[in-house]
Amino acid sequence: MEAEVFLGLGSNLGNREDNLRRALERIGSVTGEIAAVSKIYETEPWGFESSARFLNMVAKAICRQVPEELLETLQGIETELGRVRGSERYSSRTIDIDILLYGNMVIDQPQLVVPHPLIQERRFVLVPLCDLIPGEMHPVLNRTFSELLEECRDKSEVRNFITPIPIAIGTRRRHGEH
Ligand code: ADP
Ligand code: MG
Repeated sequence: MEAEVFLGLGSNLGNREDNLRRALERIGSVTGEIAAVSKIYETEPWGFESSARFLNMVAKAICRQVPEELLETLQGIETELGRVRGSERYSSRTIDIDILLYGNMVIDQPQLVVPHPLIQERRFVLVPLCDLIPGEMHPVLNRTFSELLEECRDKSEVRNFITPIPIAIGTRRRHGEH
């Protein structure tokens, strides 16, 4: 079995970009392949107070694991990348990986709800998801993701994150030197 899976990634601790990059590498090698990625967005913490903004993105993976296995795999990757699970519902984390969509499958189990139940409430999920599949239907809500984004009442800030160009700074050369 092969399924198109959409994963929501977020990080607001440590080297956030690196955390996303490492998570994508691990996901690609463990689950199958990364078929597409959204842009990266810098976003306000949602549901808790923190000055540490998140980087969020969505990735499309081609996955051969069943959903329950995939969830375990992703939680293993979270732990590998240094995530510590506290008792708080929402808190800062090096990496969070959520299963947003697993094909058109609808799952309602204590440990796993798919489509992720908060997609439509969160601009930080809808904006990157709309980079990839704006015209596709939400499997339960019968709205496209761009319609869900238009109708979303979340007003928190989600802005394009520009990756700095990797150039050497502060290595001034004296005139005539090569
Ligand atoms: P959150 O992502 O809500 O900030 P966690 O990453 O700590 O919080 O996840 C809490 C629990 O949510 C996990 O232990 C997992 O069993 C459950 N869960 C339910 N549905 C999903 C889903 N679609 N993707 C990821 N985790 C899910
Ligand atoms: Mg999570």
